[in-house]
Amino acid sequence: MSSAASTSHLLPVFARADVAFERGEGVWLHGADGERYLDFTSGVAVNSLGHCHPHLVEALQQQATKLWHMSNLFKSPDGERLAARLCEQSFADKVFFANSGAEAMECALKMARHYHFSKGAPERTRIITFEGAFHGRTLGTLAATGSAKYLEGYGEPLSGFDQVPLGDIEAVKKAIGPHTAAILIEPLQGEGGVRSPETAFFRALRELCDQHGLLLIFDEVQTGMGRTGELFAYKRIGVTPDLMSLAKALGGGFPIGACLATAEAATGMAPGSHGSTFGGNPLAVASANAVLDVMLKPGFFDHVKKISVLLKQKLAGVVDRFPQVLSEVRGEGLLIGLKAVVPSPDLVAALRDQKLLTVGAGDNVVRLLPPLIVSEAEIEEAVTRLERACTVLSGQAAQREAV
Ligand SMILES: *Cc1c(COP(=O)(O)O)cnc(C)c1O
Repeated sequence: MSSAASTSHLLPVFARADVAFERGEGVWLHGADGERYLDFTSGVAVNSLGHCHPHLVEALQQQATKLWHMSNLFKSPDGERLAARLCEQSFADKVFFANSGAEAMECALKMARHYHFSKGAPERTRIITFEGAFHGRTLGTLAATGSAKYLEGYGEPLSGFDQVPLGDIEAVKKAIGPHTAAILIEPLQGEGGVRSPETAFFRALRELCDQHGLLLIFDEVQTGMGRTGELFAYKRIGVTPDLMSLAKALGGGFPIGACLATAEAATGMAPGSHGSTFGGNPLAVASANAVLDVMLKPGFFDHVKKISVLLKQKLAGVVDRFPQVLSEVRGEGLLIGLKAVVPSPDLVAALRDQKLLTVGAGDNVVRLLPPLIVSEAEIEEAVTRLERACTVLSGQAAQREAV
């Protein structure tokens, strides 16, 4: 060990902020520094019911006394129930459980290829993806992500992805060939900077898929489970995919991912086609069933939509008052992006100084991802803290200009 920076034994792949948390309650976190923080990260769109939601705590505690793990060698009644509920709420007929977003995506990518194989067209393996996408960090999902920054140093990327500009339907048409299997898109890009094309673009993708016999894959790892104001973002758009990945908020903080498919897209999948040791683990399934219990109560999404309108209105006011710091509010539901004029990491840090936690994204955007249960008063509090951070940053901007 050579440098002082390497005193930590954690692989240094994350630029961690210098703060740790001891416990959380709803939208609030208690820092090891003795301070209370407003959590508008939700663990990157994971803790959508806030920290330590009583129903989730109870469900997990109960499951912990019964059965932790069983493998997929045996039947899974609770997994059956979770899959049935997800299908009942969506377009899907079949569900595969995984442990993360990247794994849910891997399953979708594999199924898209396997579908055409089963239909006698094994040459159809290529998948069209979009600039600014994020699909995960495994070698497959990294290739789908296609970002040079993340691919660098890892050798030849997995082949089979054709990336085109987001929203460019002519480019999509040009990219479709005899080897194309599917089109993969996020209904709303999260990591990419809270960006989405027009609804008409998604409709055009659906038409192209139908015309050419391609599968349409929606990566709803971030947008799914209520983040944009509907249980799944595709419902808001009104365009139905053939395959959909879920993860982040699915377990409310317990790791679980899922790949949802129509019966047609699942053609040919049979014992041995795919697998996972932990996938559908009883603790994970109990957590996800508990998340659905809460989200499917009447009125849950009315709250998300109402709070979203309030937050966006208030943010628009802040953008107007601080044009030196912010230039735009984007997003849907509670997946909100603030396009910054100052470097976005400076804004994230200034907000953290005000004890408001947020997440950076591409395109110089700061994401606000509060738990979906955030109250009006907590929104007001967050906006007050944002204004304070903007005041600090605009003072610094003015000083820089004066020099
Ligand atoms: C976070 C994310 C992933 C990857 O999920 P992991 O659980 O980190 O593997 C994939 N797609 C989207 C859209 C995401 O936001």
